[in-house]
Amino acid sequence: MFQGKTALVTGSTSGIGLGIARHLATLGANVMLNGFGDPAEIERLRAEIAERSGVQVGYDGADMSDPRSIEAMMAQTFDRFGGVDLLINNAGIQHVAPVDEFPPAKWDAILAINLSAAFHTVRLALPRMKQQGFGRIVNVASAHALVASPFKSAYVAAKHGIAGFTKAVALEVAELGITVNAICPGYVLTPLVEQQIPDTAKARGITPEQVVRDVLLAAQPTKKFVTVEQVAAFTAFLCSGDAASITGAVLPIEGGWTAH
Ligand code: NAD
Repeated sequence: MFQGKTALVTGSTSGIGLGIARHLATLGANVMLNGFGDPAEIERLRAEIAERSGVQVGYDGADMSDPRSIEAMMAQTFDRFGGVDLLINNAGIQHVAPVDEFPPAKWDAILAINLSAAFHTVRLALPRMKQQGFGRIVNVASAHALVASPFKSAYVAAKHGIAGFTKAVALEVAELGITVNAICPGYVLTPLVEQQIPDTAKARGITPEQVVRDVLLAAQPTKKFVTVEQVAAFTAFLCSGDAASITGAVLPIEGGWTAH
């Protein structure tokens, strides 16, 4: 489906981003990975995806909170692959605390990685997409782009922000063969969620088991975690030719959460 196309997936050394990168590679796209982690493990993943899918897979460890680092990653991707056809802005972090105890440095980091990073990748990727008359941008937002939860003020602000950013850019490029959408997963059991269980337990004064049952899955009418594979398949559809008329959309994949 994506033979000859290049996908850049930010934050793809773990969780949802890794699942999306794997799936797009399976469908024929060359992939540029990004994210943190143990260098040997990242190289193992890179080689595994390349070998299994028969595509080229690169890696750039750019820190998505640093605009200069993002510029260098985009330049490296252009040098190696000639451009970015499928841009998946996925890198994200979370911090859970009451707003009056929220560390300002965490606020800044969440806004930088979960929101501003997408501005930088988009502004740098768009000129070539415009030139070729094709592009797909998928911003991995969250159900928290549509509704809020307490103790996640920075995350909710950043995710609502990326929903607005998605719509504005989609309108700018709507006639140029480029679509821009945001997807809004509910809870997916990745390291990002696993790590926030103890903090949420502390903030609410309940046990980790109660957090899973009464806080996380309480919000999801299906009572099931969304899977990485489901999010990856949804992303791939939005990147396909069949999705050419879907743009500027902020699309839930959250087990019915926002139907409440
Ligand atoms: P994860 O922690 O498993 O993966 C996050 C990825 O981002 C990792 O590859 C990590 O190395 C990378 N990353 C973190 N900081 C970075 C930085 N400064 N520069 C570059 N890379 C960085 O998390 P996940 O659950 O897979 O989350 C991926 C995205 O999905 C995030 O944007 C998150 O907000 C969103 N999301 C997750 C869930 C969920 O339930 N897991 C739900 C809705 C939305």
